[in-house]
Amino acid sequence: MDWDEFSDWGARVSQWAAAYHRTLRDRPVRAQTAPGEIAAQLPAAPPEGAEAMEAIMADFERVVMPGITHWQHPRFFAYFPANAAPPSMLAEMLVSTIAAQCMLWQTSPAATEMETVMLDWLRQAIGLPVGFAGVIQDSASSATLAAVLTMRERALNWQGNARGLSGQGRLRIYCSAEVHTSVDRAIWIAGIGQDNLVRIPVTGPLRGMDPGALQAAITDDIAAGHLPAGVVACTGGTGTGACDDLSAVIAVAKDHGLYTHVDAAWAGAAMICPEFRTLWAGVEGADSVVFNPHKWLGAQFDCSAHFLRDPADLVRTLAIQPEYLKTHGHDGLINYSEWSVPLGRRFRALKLWFLIRAYGLDGLRERLRNHVAWSRALCADLGRDPRFEIVTAPVLSLFTFRLRDGDDAAQIDLVNRINDDGRIYLTQTRVDGRMAIRFQVGQFDATRADVEMARRVIVELSGG
Ligand SMILES: *Cc1c(COP(=O)(O)O)cnc(C)c1O
Repeated sequence: MDWDEFSDWGARVSQWAAAYHRTLRDRPVRAQTAPGEIAAQLPAAPPEGAEAMEAIMADFERVVMPGITHWQHPRFFAYFPANAAPPSMLAEMLVSTIAAQCMLWQTSPAATEMETVMLDWLRQAIGLPVGFAGVIQDSASSATLAAVLTMRERALNWQGNARGLSGQGRLRIYCSAEVHTSVDRAIWIAGIGQDNLVRIPVTGPLRGMDPGALQAAITDDIAAGHLPAGVVACTGGTGTGACDDLSAVIAVAKDHGLYTHVDAAWAGAAMICPEFRTLWAGVEGADSVVFNPHKWLGAQFDCSAHFLRDPADLVRTLAIQPEYLKTHGHDGLINYSEWSVPLGRRFRALKLWFLIRAYGLDGLRERLRNHVAWSRALCADLGRDPRFEIVTAPVLSLFTFRLRDGDDAAQIDLVNRINDDGRIYLTQTRVDGRMAIRFQVGQFDATRADVEMARRVIVELSGG
């Protein structure tokens, strides 16, 4: 393909993109294909000869699009949102055009310096105090892995990377049962082992870990000769939006010199609205905090904001400088690849710059506030209907409910009926061992009418 052809196809693809978004409401939200249906339409072997772009694009429509679940659909109420706001998409097009590897300052100074400033914009936007430094990770899972590795190295007096874990005491990490599975995987990958991830029971309507039980668990572990290393707290857990009491949890952790990492992957975006910050009161005491602008804030995946009170601990854990990665002649530069597990990194800060400028913080706040208000209104409506029971009250824009007269199978059956219908999409979770249906609003193009349609679909398919 030459650049003239590229230019024509680029224009066609962006026209396609705009048309796609304009007509999204007409498509079923969740892909309606059966397993294997898409693979069966793909040739088993690669072509030997070149094919025309016209044919490739036609096959994209015919083969691929039916197998897409539309995350940008305004009636996507499943999981958590993954917004790709239009200004962010445009920035990503520019970034994929430039295709720079931004691992070191000198491999694109603009990317590094933009990242430093954008993370400071975000720090201010979510109300973290001066002093927290930020880095963009590819995902919250990577940020949490980096945090767990830092906990490990601190607790082993910086000897883990050098000597490995054999012959060391048992490292112990604490969290509630409400944290995301990325914590489990970080523990596996760090070599700490699932048995050393200590689950602290939760209490209260926000399902936060019991600080007294945390204190007792740490004390018991010390008595047993183990090595407590850190606490992973959550603000807005994935199942029901559980929030730990950060002030209390961090106070216990600090008592024992433990590192605290806060996973606010979804809920952190809401902290651009000061009225929601009570959910993470005390966060300023954490050692690190992660939130995903690629979920609710509108920055296209991938963009995970990882804030550190003192990046030195993380850099000490992850930095490695062979001669070929050294930058001579400049002192004190940030090389962000020393702050993350992968070496290579995309220019991810540009989409934040485009996004925040194009909407302003006020424009972003307005969207999030609407989502929260519409979700609360729907929860109140369902709560008044005797067929439903609210299982967990809204945390921001997420609540869970179930059919009052129905076992677990009946809840799953309803979820399947709703998703097969296609007008809306939602998913399930378990709360205290029983199945519940999750509902969250967070898609940027969602309107009050879309949430109203969700109410009608839920009621109708529940036999109303
Ligand atoms: C989505 C989510 C994650 C995982 O985020 P990735 O960026 O996909 O790794 C972790 N924790 C919470 C609370 C989440 O909501």
